[in-house]
Amino acid sequence: MIQDQAFTTRASIGGEWRDTGRTFTVTNPATGEAITDLSDCGEAEAREAADAAVTAFRSWSRLTARERADPLRAFARLLREHSREIGQLITLENGRPFHMAVGEPTWAADQIDYYVGASVRLTGELLPPPAPGQQMFALRQPVGPVLAITPWNYPVLLASWKLGPALASGCTVIHKPAEQTPLSALRLAELFEQAGGPPGVYQVLPCRNPAPVADVLLDDPRVRKLAFTGSVETGRHLYRRAAATFKRVTLELGGNCPLIVFDDADLDAVQAFLGGRLCGSAGQVCLSPNRVLAQGRVADEFAGKAASFARAQVLGDPFDPATTVGPLSTAQNHARVSEHVRDAVERGARLLAGGRSPGGLYYEPTVLLDVQPGTRLLEEETFGPVVPISRFTSEEEAVEAANRTEYGLAAHIFTRDMRRAWRVAERLECGAVTVNGTATFTGDSPFGGWKASGVGRELGRWGLDAYLELKSVSMPLG
Ligand code: ADP
Repeated sequence: MIQDQAFTTRASIGGEWRDTGRTFTVTNPATGEAITDLSDCGEAEAREAADAAVTAFRSWSRLTARERADPLRAFARLLREHSREIGQLITLENGRPFHMAVGEPTWAADQIDYYVGASVRLTGELLPPPAPGQQMFALRQPVGPVLAITPWNYPVLLASWKLGPALASGCTVIHKPAEQTPLSALRLAELFEQAGGPPGVYQVLPCRNPAPVADVLLDDPRVRKLAFTGSVETGRHLYRRAAATFKRVTLELGGNCPLIVFDDADLDAVQAFLGGRLCGSAGQVCLSPNRVLAQGRVADEFAGKAASFARAQVLGDPFDPATTVGPLSTAQNHARVSEHVRDAVERGARLLAGGRSPGGLYYEPTVLLDVQPGTRLLEEETFGPVVPISRFTSEEEAVEAANRTEYGLAAHIFTRDMRRAWRVAERLECGAVTVNGTATFTGDSPFGGWKASGVGRELGRWGLDAYLELKSVSMPLG
């Protein structure tokens, strides 16, 4: 379909396309073949990018929001115009079926537009005067240069959740994309430049080994904020390291999201919801249900439906429109999914569908019933096309099981009893609850986790506040 595309393979530093003299290879998870080699950044490039981000911040932050809006709106327009080509890059890099990946650049453009709109309307506040003849204001100002670290599962969308509010509010961004998906990020930088984005405002540092690059930027007090989406383990490390320079942080970490199916639920609706979540990115979505808690007798009926659905899925070339499930994106993820399923079966779970890898990084959609407490499948984030089902009897028991995790990203409830839905939603310890298959987030809602699932919020007005500092100013009137 695309595969003769020319790739952007140099780092974007201070308005230049830099060949660093060292390279690393990006591979296609569907075939295991190399896509291309590209420039590998290290400490020296990170230092240069920090200098450029600081310099660019001086002028970018002083523009009015309306002045910044021009290149940002053009950037969003270019993302839309190039959505097929960027979708193809995403599919090549992370294996998500193309017909699903092609929408991602448009969602990203929507985020940029949203924050342009929010920034041009951004105001401070006039406060009660501290004394006669004086005034006091609360100003909101951009926090400064930002280090954005993004994962491979939604490489363009999750970048836009950071780029939108950061750039629109006047911050500059140094983006370190995941080592698996740097090509789509470099394309974003190219389109930003084409849109008239000034040098140093948005830089992208591709690298094979993230730590040396990130450490330079985390230790640099001039970089004022860390915005990260990724694993709890990496988030914990970055949070600690960022504390030394008191950076502002937004951390969007993993989930172990429960799907609670009460015995009055519409099981076909549950299946439709779960199916969409499982196939979308082969289950590699932080807010997808990681475990199903089903009430009493409906567990067997639901398990049967889920197993039929799983068996009907088509694994294959992600560029083939008939493919519903692509490969897992990384070998590490494939190994974890295989291990979690093996562990659950060994501890007595009944395997109803899947449970095998047909080759490469593919893994069959898998359904397991009566998964025992304490198995890794229930305790950890599996990040794969696996549905572990366990039973509960009372509402109390369901809430307790749902909350019995260090994570707190999202939870999903299915019931026809809206009083119960409300009661349970209130008691769940997590950042988002859906009832009967509603949206987990929109551009207006706060997105983020409780407990180990994160710090701070992205999206909506909260996503913009995360890139703003407050300052009170008092002054005499004459
Ligand atoms: P996953 O397990 O989903 O790959 P990670 O948290 O390891 O999640 O990766 C998410 C992002 O964090 C990627 O961009 C990755 O390169 C980056 N990352 C991983 N380890 C570090 C580290 N020590 N320092 C900075 N960034 C890191």
